[in-house]
Amino acid sequence: MESAKSIWMDGELVPWAEAKVHVLTHALHYGTGVFEGIRAYKNDDGTAVFRLREHMERLLVSAAAYSMPIEYSVDDLVVAVRDTVTDNELESCYIRPITFYELGTIGLNPAGARLRTSIIAFPWGAYLGEEGLRNGIRVKIASWARISLQSFPPAKATGPYINSILANQEAVRDGYDEALLLTGDGNVSEGAGENLFLVKDGQVITPPLSDGCLAGITRQSVMTLLTDDGYTVVEKSILPADLFEADELFFTGTAAEVTPVREVDDREIGPGKPGPITRRAQELFNDAVGGKLEQYREWLDYI
Ligand code: PMP
Repeated sequence: MESAKSIWMDGELVPWAEAKVHVLTHALHYGTGVFEGIRAYKNDDGTAVFRLREHMERLLVSAAAYSMPIEYSVDDLVVAVRDTVTDNELESCYIRPITFYELGTIGLNPAGARLRTSIIAFPWGAYLGEEGLRNGIRVKIASWARISLQSFPPAKATGPYINSILANQEAVRDGYDEALLLTGDGNVSEGAGENLFLVKDGQVITPPLSDGCLAGITRQSVMTLLTDDGYTVVEKSILPADLFEADELFFTGTAAEVTPVREVDDREIGPGKPGPITRRAQELFNDAVGGKLEQYREWLDYI
């Protein structure tokens, strides 16, 4: 990854190389952290962070789900992001806020460990590759089930990501671009780091949150964009068999943006190339983040 100049740690900007933590960091041992992934886009009016407040609100919801007494408000975190992006003189970039338990205890209960918050911003291109954005990616259904909602609150916490990592490693090892996870009951949940959309007979379908997927901010944005554009978008459970009969499939996510899926388990989806509704979703999303759609200007926080 590309580095930048400074990192925001607990209220101050420190040089990139000095943003360090102790090896006894509780979150390193037990995954006791919550985090976000945010993108800023350079457009004609400057650099705009996409849905910054919503991301910071989700960070605080995640922290509350794990009883983390984070001392910053959404407003504080919004200012911290602006300071970080400005200090690093970044234009389009990826922003990673993280709150985690550091030193203080090696017991499971993190009470007594110091809670730290950091914001890192750096340049980052297309997560699943430019080629993937253009022509679609190849996906493998993971042999690992999505971690169950009976086992963790569906917040964006670091620990549960080991589930996504196992699935992604398996997919990449087997020659695919990304993994798709099913619930323990066999419904389609989401990608290792993306939400899934399916198009069938002009209708757009995405799994409900009860199928264990993250309440993705890109998911919600794309649902709004397509609905406002006249499409019918519904939240409905998807079975693996539905994937193979789909006209189109695509992933959404901050890192992945809107990425077409052209194959699942070596079977082509539709004609094996991105379909018209996927293209329309990409276009609407790119125009929204690019500040070209007046109606969605409120989603943009200019630095
Ligand atoms: N699902 C998972 C498991 C993810 O890690 C992400 C990325 N945050 C998403 C979905 C997409 O969420 P968002 O659109 O908010 O980035």
